[in-house]
Amino acid sequence: MSDHVEGPRPVVVVLGGGPGGLMAAEVLATAGVAVTVVGAMPSVGRKFLLAGRGGLNLTHSEPFDAFLARYGTAAPHLRTALQNFTSDDLRAWCAGLGEPTFVGSSGRVFPESFRANRLLEAWVARLTDLGVDLRTGQRWTGWHDDGTLELRSADGVVTVRPDATVLALGGASWPSTGSDGSWRQLVGAAGVEVTPLRPANSGVDVDWTPVFVDRFAGEPIKNVAVRCGEERTRGELMVTEHGLEGGAVYALSRPLHDDIDRSGGAVLRVDLCPDLEPDAVRQRIARRRAKDSRSTVLRRQLGLAPAAVGLLRDATANQLPADDDALGALVKDVPVRVTGSAPLDRAISTAGGISLDEVDEHFMLRRRPGTFVVGEMLDWEAPTGGYLLQATFSTAVAAAQGVLDLLGGSAAHGAQHDELG
Ligand SMILES: Cc1cc2nc3c(=O)[nH]c(=O)nc-3n(C[C@H](O)[C@H](O)[C@H](O)COP(=O)(O)OP(=O)(O)OC[C@H]3O[C@@H](n4cnc5c(N)ncnc54)[C@H](O)[C@@H]3O)c2cc1C
Repeated sequence: MSDHVEGPRPVVVVLGGGPGGLMAAEVLATAGVAVTVVGAMPSVGRKFLLAGRGGLNLTHSEPFDAFLARYGTAAPHLRTALQNFTSDDLRAWCAGLGEPTFVGSSGRVFPESFRANRLLEAWVARLTDLGVDLRTGQRWTGWHDDGTLELRSADGVVTVRPDATVLALGGASWPSTGSDGSWRQLVGAAGVEVTPLRPANSGVDVDWTPVFVDRFAGEPIKNVAVRCGEERTRGELMVTEHGLEGGAVYALSRPLHDDIDRSGGAVLRVDLCPDLEPDAVRQRIARRRAKDSRSTVLRRQLGLAPAAVGLLRDATANQLPADDDALGALVKDVPVRVTGSAPLDRAISTAGGISLDEVDEHFMLRRRPGTFVVGEMLDWEAPTGGYLLQATFSTAVAAAQGVLDLLGGSAAHGAQHDELG
């Protein structure tokens, strides 16, 4: 982090009270900058709390090169930020707030409490101690021609012209948390290129038969391997009324969405017995008793759950192959026809956003010097596994350092504003 800023205190406005905005505020306030965080909702960190309901997978412990590769084409733009605020730094920060972390069997990192509540509470207390002014119920509604920020709340409209601004307004999934993507128009109107916002780490739609939905919606299909094109992963599927959710589908979001965008659909290939070689599957099926039905064979010899057997029936229009070898081959490679993506509202994260070509190495907008962008607003995408929060925190630290460099070099400090609220 950085040295204390000498002289009259510069003022920075952070727009957005999610983990990106709060981390930028912490770095800046620690360096002696007067920081105001403006959040649209009545309280900060609502999506962070939601992430906590699923265990709060903060980051991942895998080696850096493998970690970086998760960001695909955005990796070169994120490398320095991820190197300067690593997963170990994030774990140390978390422990410093009284929430030690641990590495799960998959390499994912979680706070011991598996929740975000205590962490957020301790974090807000730290920010308050640092003098950060947390303004809630106030919404950024754009820039005026002279560059001032317009903020609206129930009390009316105010304008402010800080020394620097950090945009940390998040993606557009789960809009009930305040992250509604309405900044697109505001930023786009200022000439900044915004790649269309799309669901990432989201479920997919499948035209299930009514029989399958009736029996299995809400049921998991555990321990499967799934493939789309060349990309494959292992995990769990969750059957929903409209299709599939779950870690295994989220991990293949990118290739699935690419195929859906290109051709209106995709095929997810499911291996229901990933721990058995094809020969072993065939041999087990061959051990069946002559009177056993196909379903009994699948259940008894292969240990398949009723939902997995249901998936096989659904994929074959209820015509399971009579031939043992064909049945074995199907178990190892069930084609599930995907008809579309679940809507952005329900996605874990958002792909698209402010183009990485629009920002410099400190995530400052090239077209708007003094305005920085962090977190999910930026156009990067990553699978679940802690990569979303890690990149959000790392870009926030990098942008805050950029703000400090800028302010360190600027002569006059002190915001001009009507009043902040
Ligand atoms: C169900 C769910 C589970 C998740 N689980 C995980 C997980 O386990 N691990 C992981 O790494 N990631 C997870 N994520 C993703 C992670 O929560 C996000 O990537 C992260 O919150 C992004 O942080 P951010 O600060 O960029 O944006 P956000 O957290 O979305 O914060 C943006 C803030 O900006 C505010 N805002 C928006 N517009 C305005 C405006 N005009 N004026 C003022 N304020 C505004 C919003 O109210 C919000 O407070 C999960 C997401 C969901 C939905």
